[in-house]
Amino acid sequence: MISARQLAHEVRSGARRAADVVEDCLRRIEAHDDDIHAFNTVTADGARAAAAAVDAAVADGRDPGPLAGVPVAFKDNLCTRGVATTCSSRMLDGWLPPYDATVVTAITAAGAVMIGKTNLDEFAMGSSTENSAFGPTRNPYDLHRVPGGSSGGSAAAVCAGFAPLALGSDTGGSIRQPASLCGVVGIKPTYGRVSRYGLVAFASSFDQVGPFAADVADAALALEVISGHDPADSTSVPAAVPDFKASLTRGLDGLRVGIVRELTGGGHGSPATFDSVRARPPSAPGASEARSGIEPEVTARVLEAADALAEGGASVGWVSVPAVTYGLTAYYLIAPAEASSNLARYDGTRYGLRVDGADVEEMNRLTRRAGFGDEVKARVMLGTFALSAGYYDAYYGKAQRVRMLTRRDFDAAYADYDVLLSPSSPCVAFRFGERSDPMMMYRCDTCTIPSNLSGDPAMSVPFGVGAAGMPVGVQVMAPALAEETMLTVAAALERAAPPLSRPALCDAG
Ligand code: GLN
Repeated sequence: MISARQLAHEVRSGARRAADVVEDCLRRIEAHDDDIHAFNTVTADGARAAAAAVDAAVADGRDPGPLAGVPVAFKDNLCTRGVATTCSSRMLDGWLPPYDATVVTAITAAGAVMIGKTNLDEFAMGSSTENSAFGPTRNPYDLHRVPGGSSGGSAAAVCAGFAPLALGSDTGGSIRQPASLCGVVGIKPTYGRVSRYGLVAFASSFDQVGPFAADVADAALALEVISGHDPADSTSVPAAVPDFKASLTRGLDGLRVGIVRELTGGGHGSPATFDSVRARPPSAPGASEARSGIEPEVTARVLEAADALAEGGASVGWVSVPAVTYGLTAYYLIAPAEASSNLARYDGTRYGLRVDGADVEEMNRLTRRAGFGDEVKARVMLGTFALSAGYYDAYYGKAQRVRMLTRRDFDAAYADYDVLLSPSSPCVAFRFGERSDPMMMYRCDTCTIPSNLSGDPAMSVPFGVGAAGMPVGVQVMAPALAEETMLTVAAALERAAPPLSRPALCDAG
């Protein structure tokens, strides 16, 4: 598959027309999206018009930008002016945003062309897209398996070659986990690095927008384009945007890489050097690994990735980040608490769906009953309970203390290591219905949630396959605003990774 970089290069130089690039993608979508259902909406007409504008700019000698003519898919919780934005919920049926999200403006201003809006778990709550009100997305590698979630549509779109780039949102892992399950690259930037303006809020203190791409360099380029301070987002960080592309070719000499013991089955005891990782790969899972159900083949790939980094010149060791074992519990109190507040705005008055009732209160109740799916309702109830007088300290307050502990433990780990490694997901893509118990579904987020609690950047890079030949992703975590180091390590992992075959379905045309 051709990279976004190469496409943009060819379009900018006049060697390829953006119009042809868009038609190629639309043909692939037409041929395969009935099976995959990556998209809620395909914006074919808009894409053709935007591509024509890019071609016209090139013909006039103007530069359309670093992503000239590159088709991009947006998760359907990013506001797009005049284009349906549903969050895969019946609640937003018929709602047309009056403005574009800042990331949408930024990436299209760089020449990229919106090709459609991708499916997700309703309001981004889930890890498989099975919670979409419009039916699940299927994993292009195996249509009987989930693509992960909640940005499953964005991950599947890149995996299937429907678009070289996609944007998603990551509140508890929703970029990194589906990237891992679909064999693509996914980045959750530092909280505040990328504007949240126009991202429909789920849990505002965690939500971040980030890119999906087929390789690290494309993801770095997209990240560079969407990063930067935005006065419209009060949590946006006023930091300069580095040249992320420049990080990709740096060497590993002197870099210190810690494998997170609690997330990778490192067992217990004092920190071990990398030699001992090789000499004694943990045969029996550690207690926490067993609890979180990390598949042995996933652990094996992470250790091979660590091995590759050591061979590339990094110093590798085990590191303990004890608070991560409480991450899931803390997140599943704080995120629903914030969601219960954020989702109060869907009252039948201001957005989308309205079911009429005898009075306003009944209208509110009937609208919310009909508009929200079961998982969303469960979270609103859980969050309301966690915030209620008398329980606040015991639940929400305690979860916030765990968040502080997580921050502290990460800071301690980063005093000794530049980046941390773990699996992105405890498991490879599973079959539909296999995790119908909510606790089993929540455990998908074990490895990703800690970086949401801390606000630090993290990304998933494909590294070989696990059970059933499905892709495995290695997670690279870094301290706040250290995306450059994270990308250096990710690029090195990509160079060392065993080649991953493309989904058979996509080679068909
Ligand atoms: N799976 C997690 C949840 O259900 C994370 C979702 C996300 O990152 N949007 O909350």
